[in-house]
Amino acid sequence: MTILCYHSVHARWKSPLAVEPHAFVRQAAWLRSSRRVLGLEQALHRLDASGRLPRGAAALTFDDGFAALHEHVLPVLTRERLPATVFLVAQTLTPAGQAVDWVDTPGSEPITTLNLEQVLEMQDAGVDFQSHSWAHHDLTRLSQAECENDLRRSRELLCDLLGRRVTLLAYPRGRHDRHVRTAAARAGYTHAFALPEGPELPDPYAIPRVGIYRGNGQLTVRVKTSRPYLRVRTSRHVSTGVKAVKRVTRTPGRPGR
Ligand SMILES: [Zn+2]
Repeated sequence: MTILCYHSVHARWKSPLAVEPHAFVRQAAWLRSSRRVLGLEQALHRLDASGRLPRGAAALTFDDGFAALHEHVLPVLTRERLPATVFLVAQTLTPAGQAVDWVDTPGSEPITTLNLEQVLEMQDAGVDFQSHSWAHHDLTRLSQAECENDLRRSRELLCDLLGRRVTLLAYPRGRHDRHVRTAAARAGYTHAFALPEGPELPDPYAIPRVGIYRGNGQLTVRVKTSRPYLRVRTSRHVSTGVKAVKRVTRTPGRPGR
């Protein structure tokens, strides 16, 4: 499980969803020097039967399209030359917009999402954008027809706005079931990403990711980007990870990716 799922990077929003900017800077530098960070499309071709990437590889995703990504994530991705995918809630980009009404821990100031200008600027800088549904509903609570309609609408609007194919979906809160997976396929997605709390059956419409949250230290990020994630909690595996880091950082002149 080496596809990472971030949400926001924000100093003042004290939510598990908001990694602190200085922590993200450190995590990104470590990923750049110690992991092979693949674009998500590229990563899809490298997943094994259990839905995980080869040892040492990772991919970066951000759910919800929070506005803070423009200030705190774009410059870091550019500096470290890291590929990343942001999953957008399509309705937030309509003229009527949509307030961020889906977070459990609202901040002391309104939490906002990226506007279209920011999205297009980030896309020009190399950031990949895909779908996080139309309105961030819990898809498992919709009928299959409602779910398919929600997901198709999101994909079509994003294709129009971004001027490119949108084929990947991250389920809101990672929640899915059989009818949601079927709806995703019928709505034109080729793959969909979850956020499992325990082992799930791997499937192109249930690709596992690991969440990175506020307060996760550097060691946690190392462990979460190591495989096999579920068995890595022993000191032996952790020390193996640290040795691997030292070995990689001694290698001079690693080419940029
Ligand atoms: Zn979300």
